[in-house]
Amino acid sequence: MQRNTSQRKLVLDALASLEGEHPGAERVYERVHADHPTVSKATVYRILKDEAASGRVLGVDLPRDIGRFDSRTDGHYHIRCRICGKVADIERGCCGTDGLFVNNSGYEIEDVMIAFSGVCAECAAAERGRTGA
Ligand SMILES: [Zn+2]
Ligand SMILES: [Zn+2]
Repeated sequence: MQRNTSQRKLVLDALASLEGEHPGAERVYERVHADHPTVSKATVYRILKDEAASGRVLGVDLPRDIGRFDSRTDGHYHIRCRICGKVADIERGCCGTDGLFVNNSGYEIEDVMIAFSGVCAECAAAERGRTGA
């Protein structure tokens, strides 16, 4: 049990150290593995899945993307750069998304997933550099 608890902490610490990056499980595993080579990939993947299911970490599923994880669990949205694939946070209330929808489906809404797509600042600058040259 103690062993499980400490492996869980290693995974959560690794994810926290990557905050803002929205790493996939592979990246979290690499971070854990660098300092703790005895922790198996299967263990890291399982712990991430468990923690996401229980809401202690946020599973970030974007269209046509790898499954990512976020140590930040308060309500926020994500935008993915279509060029380099980097993912950043978008705060709730931004861009007029709240209040944009009317639910006349008769369904009770339990969750909403909104995924933004665009071009990050670095890629936009690189594009400008190329076209300007
Ligand atoms: Zn980019
Ligand atoms: Zn996020």
